Amino acid sequence: MTFATTSEPIAISTQSRGPGVIAIDGPAASGKSTVGFVVAGLLNYLFFDTGAMYRVVTWACLDRGVDLHNADTVGHLAETIDIAILPSGDAQDGRHLTVLVDDQDVTWAVRAPEVDQKVSTVAAIPRVRAALSQHQRQVGGQYAQGHAGMNGIVMVGRDIGTVVLPDAPLKIYLDAPVVERAQRRFLELEKRGKSPSFAQVLADMQERDRIDSQRAIAPLRPAPDAHIISTAGLGVQEIVERIVALANVNSEQ
Ligand code: C5P
Repeated sequence: MTFATTSEPIAISTQSRGPGVIAIDGPAASGKSTVGFVVAGLLNYLFFDTGAMYRVVTWACLDRGVDLHNADTVGHLAETIDIAILPSGDAQDGRHLTVLVDDQDVTWAVRAPEVDQKVSTVAAIPRVRAALSQHQRQVGGQYAQGHAGMNGIVMVGRDIGTVVLPDAPLKIYLDAPVVERAQRRFLELEKRGKSPSFAQVLADMQERDRIDSQRAIAPLRPAPDAHIISTAGLGVQEIVERIVALANVNSEQ
């Protein structure tokens, strides 16, 4: 996806602080993070990517040699690990946020292909979901009415509109065909100096989609009241404009 820089500025309503909470869900590489980050910046909202938390738990398991199929050990790790998801600050390396574990910067480590391959297994463990969702709900509640100089929060993930923040006043579900999403992820990895095979990226993504949408708890699916946007062939600016327009309408109601 490209961010068109030649378009007209996006109109933001200055009458109100917007809906307060915007939940954005969708499958891997559907554009949630890119779009959510830009929308958050325009509305002066906190950008909070819940996928980073599942990635941290997975990364920590791999790093510490924890058996990913031992639900108790992985669950305990999720309940006790010290994760900080912070704004990206002055970092100039393309990150949308900074991820710390015990003060160690793991922002890029949690995006490694080995984490991609295992994260859905970890995210299907009920104790892991309970621990992380509770934290996410707290952050959502804290920022919903504005907090720490921010007007609200954009939270992105798989189950934000359905489970974590089911009362969010504005819910978006982004989708695109898996081949297009795999192509985006492939280019992203190449940009970061990795040289994956496209077939592998596509296969990993199909497997992740399968596990994420078929798991028993909080499977990936649009909330009944979500606005579904197909991002195939759309640029970032176009999607952002649609969401900001919905945020403006929502805050006028
Ligand atoms: O969004 P991202 O690709 O970084 O998410 C990584 C994985 O974390 C997803 O494939 C999914 O298994 C899990 N996840 C989840 N619920 C969320 C966010 C992410 O299960 N709210």
